Amino acid sequence: MDDSEKIDIRVLTLSQLRKIFENKGLFSYRADQVYNWIWNKGVHSFDLMTNISKESRSLLNLNFEINRIKFDITQKSSDGTIKNTVRLNDNHIVESVLIQTKNRRTASVSSEVGCSLNCDFCATSKIKNIRNLKKDEIFDQVFLMNKQSLNYYKKPLTNIVFMGMGEPLMNYNNVVSAIDKITHPSFLGFSPSRITISTSGIPKLIKKLADDGVKTELAVSLHSTRKKIREKIMPFTKKFPLETLKESLVYWQNKNRKILTLEYIVWNLINDLKDDVNSLLEFCKGLNVKVNLIEYNSIDNDSFQQAKNSVIELYKKELSKSNITVTIRKSRGKDIDAACGQLANKSNKFFNLTE
Ligand code: SAH
Repeated sequence: MDDSEKIDIRVLTLSQLRKIFENKGLFSYRADQVYNWIWNKGVHSFDLMTNISKESRSLLNLNFEINRIKFDITQKSSDGTIKNTVRLNDNHIVESVLIQTKNRRTASVSSEVGCSLNCDFCATSKIKNIRNLKKDEIFDQVFLMNKQSLNYYKKPLTNIVFMGMGEPLMNYNNVVSAIDKITHPSFLGFSPSRITISTSGIPKLIKKLADDGVKTELAVSLHSTRKKIREKIMPFTKKFPLETLKESLVYWQNKNRKILTLEYIVWNLINDLKDDVNSLLEFCKGLNVKVNLIEYNSIDNDSFQQAKNSVIELYKKELSKSNITVTIRKSRGKDIDAACGQLANKSNKFFNLTE
């Protein structure tokens, strides 16, 4: 069999793998061992599976492969943030960021090569959207950044956020399958409450998360609750009205009883009026939310300028008056274009995906 015909073993479920082993006349429990090597120990070579017989290993080598991602370039910011340029098996490039703050080591992972949405203020939306990441490519980013965290910071990851390139809900199945492997007690055993899916807000899929019992945290990139403004800065939202979004969030929260995070950037002349604040307060009614005011990272688009501090203070004051917790997210890794919204494969011009 030539290499191109080999099956990537990680597309198989455990029961499919057991069946294959049985059909080849091998013990099916071997499949469980292989599965453990792959999803718990993260090995990329059958030859490293030392408790598997030589005969089984050569059968595996003959029929299967284990695709892998590689960290091609690793850049370190002056604040300790690490940006990885990730080469996928088919040579496409995404980026993953490892951020250390006081008590946390957070991996920000990508879910798409490019992004299927079109937020005007985000650098990722300016590059071509190529494809969804597969579940193993998402899993591997976490696995490798956990190693990296142990290496650089001497401690494992504490948190995972889907805030890299792409819209995680537009790659629903692979993101949820990767989360399943990352949280499964037999594999990485990471607590779902330390994982945050950050979405621009796809109502149907937010409801699906609730229905499917996905127990992660949820953050919604809101940025404006005034229809016209939101549609201007995030054009895809024309298809997803704010009322439908709100309804899906209430639905999610009824099933999850967790605090929802609303991500919000305040810009000059875009959402810096008292009306904008009042509209946000109205949107928050009936939801248990925390508002995360995000520092804007400039992406060479003059129409977006971070609002003055006095406006941000106004948001803070009014939200706090309504008993809504407000946090301010300072950017990390700005000097290496690793901050939110800056991921656009700038680190390697030869693999710039812009056409
Ligand atoms: N598509 C997902 C996740 C990727 S973006 C989402 O929209 O949530 C992660 C976060 O960075 C989102 O809150 C997004 O709105 C924010 N972001 C995008 N561009 C930004 C920029 N230039 N400066 C600061 N934050 C930005």
